[in-house]
Amino acid sequence: MPSSVELVLEARNIVKRYRSSASNRRSITVLDGISCQLTRQQTLGIIGESGCGKSTLAKIFMQIEPASAGELLIDGQRYQELPLADFRPKIQMIFQDCYSSLNPRKKALNIVAEPLIVAGKYSKEECFVRAQDTLSQVGLSREYWHRYPHMFSGGQRQRIGIARAIITRPQIVICDEPVSALDISVQAQIINLLLELQENYQLSYLVISHDLAVVSHVANTILVMYFGKVVEYGSVEEIFNRPQHPYSKALLDSTLTIGRQKDRHIVSGDIPSLYDPPSGCVFHSRCPLVQDICKQQVPELRSVQGRQVACHLL
Ligand code: SF4
Repeated sequence: MPSSVELVLEARNIVKRYRSSASNRRSITVLDGISCQLTRQQTLGIIGESGCGKSTLAKIFMQIEPASAGELLIDGQRYQELPLADFRPKIQMIFQDCYSSLNPRKKALNIVAEPLIVAGKYSKEECFVRAQDTLSQVGLSREYWHRYPHMFSGGQRQRIGIARAIITRPQIVICDEPVSALDISVQAQIINLLLELQENYQLSYLVISHDLAVVSHVANTILVMYFGKVVEYGSVEEIFNRPQHPYSKALLDSTLTIGRQKDRHIVSGDIPSLYDPPSGCVFHSRCPLVQDICKQQVPELRSVQGRQVACHLL
C-alpha cells in the first residue's frame, strides 16, 4: 500500500446506512467498512457491478452525502477540519451522464467558467480567459465555446465536463463511469485525454467503473467491491494478471476489451437484496467455490500474495 507522505485521499472504515423507510426503523447498509488510499498523481480504480456501492462512495468522497461512520482525509487533513470553501477546489468530479450534468441553457464557455467564478479568486474576465484556455486543452477550439450542450456529441459533452472539473486545478478528480455512455472509439479518446491531463496537471484520479478493462487501462491500484464490501484490493498488475478472489476472477473473465462489456450483471446469479443481506461471505450465493464456512463466517480482508483479499479459501 502507498506510503503516508504521498497520500492525497484516504478512507478509513467507511460505513453508509440508510433507513429503509421513514416509518420503518430498519436500516440498510450500502457500504460496510471501506478503507482505501489514493496517492499523488496515481489512479485508484473502483470496480464492481451496479449497486455495489461505488457511486455512494464517490458521493461520500465529494461530501455530497455524509458517511454514517468512518473517517475521510484529504491531504492528511480530516474532512471535518476543512471548511467547504477550501475543500471544494481540491476535489472535483466527472459524471457518467454528462448531458444531464450540464446546464442546457448555458453555453460551453459559461459552464466551464462557473466553478472558477463561484470560487471567487479571479475577476470574471480572468475566469473566462481561463475557461477558454481549458476548453482548448480538452480539444474544444474557439468555434465550440459559444454552443449549448445539445449542440455537442456525447464525447464533446464529456470534454466539457472534464474542462469544468479541472478548471479549478484540483488535486483529485473523481471519474464516475467516465466513458460508459460513449461509443468505443470515443472511449479511447477520452481515456487518452484523461491520461494526458493527469500528466500535465499532476492529477490524482479515482475512477469508478463496472468495466475492468477501462480501469485496468488507467489505474495503478484497484479496489474490487461487492455488495458494499471490499473483496480485493491491490496493484493493477496483480489483480489484472492474477486475480485471487472468485468475484474478481469472474469480473476479469467477462471483460476482454475496452467497452465490450455492457451488461452490468456480469456474474451469474442475482445480487442479494439489501433488505435481506446474506450471512457469512456476501458473495456466497453466487460463488462457484462456496463451502459451508462461507455461509457462516464473514471472511476478513487480509494480505495474500501482495494484495488484500477477503475469502476463506485464500
Ligand atoms: Fe466464495 Fe467462500 Fe471465498 Fe466467499 S469466502 S468468495 S463464498 S470461497
